[in-house]
Amino acid sequence: MLSKYLLLIMHHSISVFDMFKIGVGPSSSHTLGPWRAAERFCNYLILQKILFNIDAVKIILYGSLAKTGKGHGTNIAIQLGLSGEDPVTFDVDIIDSRIKHIAFVKKLLLAGKHEVDFNPHDDIDYLHSESLPYHPNAITFLAHLKGGEKIAQTYYSIGGGFVEQEHQLQNKIGDIELPFPINNASDLLHWSMKTGLSIHEIVLENETSWRTQADTELGLIAIWTVMKQCIFRGCHTNGVLPGGLQVKRRATDLNKKLLQENAYEGLEQWMHCISKGGNDFRYIIDWVSCFALAVNEENASFGRVVTAPTNGAAGVIPAVLMYYILFCDGGSEKKVSQFLLTASEIGSIFKKGATISAAMGGCQAEIGVSSAMAAAALCECLGGTQRQAMMAAEIAMEHHLGMTCDPIGGLVQIPCIERNTMGAMKAITAAQLALQGTPDFAKVSLDAVIRTMWETALDMSSKYKETADGGLALQIPLSLSEC
Ligand code: SF4
Repeated sequence: MLSKYLLLIMHHSISVFDMFKIGVGPSSSHTLGPWRAAERFCNYLILQKILFNIDAVKIILYGSLAKTGKGHGTNIAIQLGLSGEDPVTFDVDIIDSRIKHIAFVKKLLLAGKHEVDFNPHDDIDYLHSESLPYHPNAITFLAHLKGGEKIAQTYYSIGGGFVEQEHQLQNKIGDIELPFPINNASDLLHWSMKTGLSIHEIVLENETSWRTQADTELGLIAIWTVMKQCIFRGCHTNGVLPGGLQVKRRATDLNKKLLQENAYEGLEQWMHCISKGGNDFRYIIDWVSCFALAVNEENASFGRVVTAPTNGAAGVIPAVLMYYILFCDGGSEKKVSQFLLTASEIGSIFKKGATISAAMGGCQAEIGVSSAMAAAALCECLGGTQRQAMMAAEIAMEHHLGMTCDPIGGLVQIPCIERNTMGAMKAITAAQLALQGTPDFAKVSLDAVIRTMWETALDMSSKYKETADGGLALQIPLSLSEC
């Protein structure tokens, strides 16, 4: 069934803004996706003109969503989505109070328009041992109409915040014509050799099928703005992460230690202070780690992040891009756009040829893919050729193959937060190896490593696919945290 699923999804066109989405932590597949699914269910009720006939709503979570949904905030995301809230704009500081209010009054304002009965304790069913055939992350929404009729809709959160229904998974073939259609790394290489365009130029050209170049560039700067604000917030917020593991946030202390007595006001001055600190190897490593920790601590706290290509792996790309800007003179808007465009193409090739869902492929699909995306982007921005950039992506993934997903307590904290620092450092190393290397001598192609990753995903035991049924998750139970 998994390989059938792959064939069904592999040809559809993916924009840079599908790969990078502004949202709320901690998980793209378990938080952002279910939030979007709930919004879509509301839109369905509105389109069917039955919203105001609904008495009550129930939700059924299957497979991985049932097993780690609570730790990933799936229940919270669904309630906010059903309430008609938008994850891009919703004030993350009032999530807790809103959810407590719903539980207290046992009512929910469906689509922000119509009050229905809803008790989160009784009306969300977690079916731990049941999975639906198309994808391990399935949600069914059940609406009870006045008069006794019931309406059910099922959605699949297929990773990276993408949500599909069964008919869309079956029919989504060639949904938009692009000037440079790309399904794999060979296609990308073909177009770059034929046109002489670099990867980001090819992607920018393809993006004009959705919107003007100016709009794409504005959107990319908006994405970077959210990324850097997230790093800054994470570097200035202390405390313990929610969920019960009692994990202490580290980015703020590291930030203070590294900047010592330097005074600054606001984000831009802070960035300036960091870049003034020099180029010592350990200073740079500490900062790259600090940037990645900051994003993923924000992510674990239901903060605003950019899915890149998932939330669990949201720290890798901002950390490497911040490294490029502060330590490699990459500060122009043009360079930021270049970085994000190239990264997104590599991510979409992985999505088409394998998966970016940990529930399908383990952590190689999250941290591994984000590291490959960042490696290619950094390599190209530092002057690498198209083939060197693809080589960088290949190297980064090659050394994440087989990495399992086993978050302790189903929370996106351990090993997830530190894992982003590792993904970022591997991306930088891979970019450097490719810049100093010769693609002609490379033995493994990017397509070969993507195929390997997919085959590894198929062979991987389901207990290592975002279920918290194996690995570290078993060694350190939530109630007996050793951290
Ligand atoms: S272990 Fe990796 S894939 Fe799993 S939740 Fe953490 S970051 Fe995501």
